[in-house]
Amino acid sequence: MLNKNLKSWIEVDANSDFSIHNIPFGIYKDNKVKHRACSAIGEYIIDLVELADAGFLSVDKSILEQQFLNEFISLGKPSTNAVRAKIIDLLSNDSDPVAAELKTNKELFNKIFKKQVSVTMLLPVRVGDYTDFYSSIDHATNIGTMIRDPKNALMSNWKHIPVGYHGRASSICVSGHSFHRPKGQQKPADSELPVYGPAKLLDIELETAFIIGKQTQMGDSVSTSNADDYIFGMVLFNDWSARDIQTWEYVPLGPFLAKNFASTVSPWIITLEALEPFRTKGYTQDPKVLPYLEYKGDRNLDIKLDVFLKPEKGEENHICSSNYKYMYWTMEQQLAHHTVNGCNINVGDMMASGTISGPDPKEYGSMMELTWRGTKPITLKDGSERKFVNDNDTIIMKGYCEKDGIKIGFGECVAKVLPAK
Ligand code: CA
Repeated sequence: MLNKNLKSWIEVDANSDFSIHNIPFGIYKDNKVKHRACSAIGEYIIDLVELADAGFLSVDKSILEQQFLNEFISLGKPSTNAVRAKIIDLLSNDSDPVAAELKTNKELFNKIFKKQVSVTMLLPVRVGDYTDFYSSIDHATNIGTMIRDPKNALMSNWKHIPVGYHGRASSICVSGHSFHRPKGQQKPADSELPVYGPAKLLDIELETAFIIGKQTQMGDSVSTSNADDYIFGMVLFNDWSARDIQTWEYVPLGPFLAKNFASTVSPWIITLEALEPFRTKGYTQDPKVLPYLEYKGDRNLDIKLDVFLKPEKGEENHICSSNYKYMYWTMEQQLAHHTVNGCNINVGDMMASGTISGPDPKEYGSMMELTWRGTKPITLKDGSERKFVNDNDTIIMKGYCEKDGIKIGFGECVAKVLPAK
């Protein structure tokens, strides 16, 4: 499905996340623009309002000037895919009259294409509801081994249900933000009673999230075979977690204050259509799943994921390489399960994967696993050690797909931890 001959007349570095095969959607601002829909090519953002003004897009301009992409996404895949196809056509075919005009008219070019470094990317969607799954078998096995029983690391439901919980949407922030270390109740092992204070075991969770592109009504269910019609695209997701708060509070209803203080998302929504050529086989599901969770074909995705930790005054340290393909449950199965009871979904809802760990210890997607609960600290380039995340540390997540010399990437998902307020 990858058209290797597709090239843009705008020069794109071979290592860029934003090749002509990507064409993601986002919202940007700069000193002139409050918020507008945009796409990206190479080192540029593409202002979709200006592109519409130039007569190249037939989308209502007011929809492209919204604070969020929800209304744009609500136009439906036939419309949004047509916009993406038009942009690809414009950028690849310089015999098109508009492309020819853009190549020679510098003023027009500069109106539509702005350097990514000169703009600020905003949260791409208004997130109505946020759900977090727990779908990486290596992650669930590691956590079960550490906190319960290595012989029965997975709960008896785990291979039958894509386990998940409802998270909190209000504290989902776009890449580039900082937040204060959470405070709360913890119960140290050597203490009879709980104590209150800043979390000591602040952790990351390397995840992706998919964004709902089509709503359903209460009572409706989405099947695995129709799920892709309801998935607009994906972002990187850091589901910040306070392990000491979590350990004390999670029984019996699951995560609460340990996870609702901050989550970080990358600003570009990579469409499912751009990701389609990178489908791959997932883990074999054994035992067999119930019929409503069955699916056909290779529905996993080969997305390479990296995590870096940057101390306040030091350089970036690469701490993890994982891959989305290690997910046991696919997005289609997650969505089918989420709606099997008739739960309705809305455009902009975010559904996160759960921490994505691989089988190798370098592929663990949380500090909890990377340092094995703090027993094997990571040594950084500056000589300091980390068991969990310190104040003033910055965490950077990256993700990309690469095949036959063609690359599409997610950009970055970055956040900095400030001392407790
Ligand atoms: Ca999570």
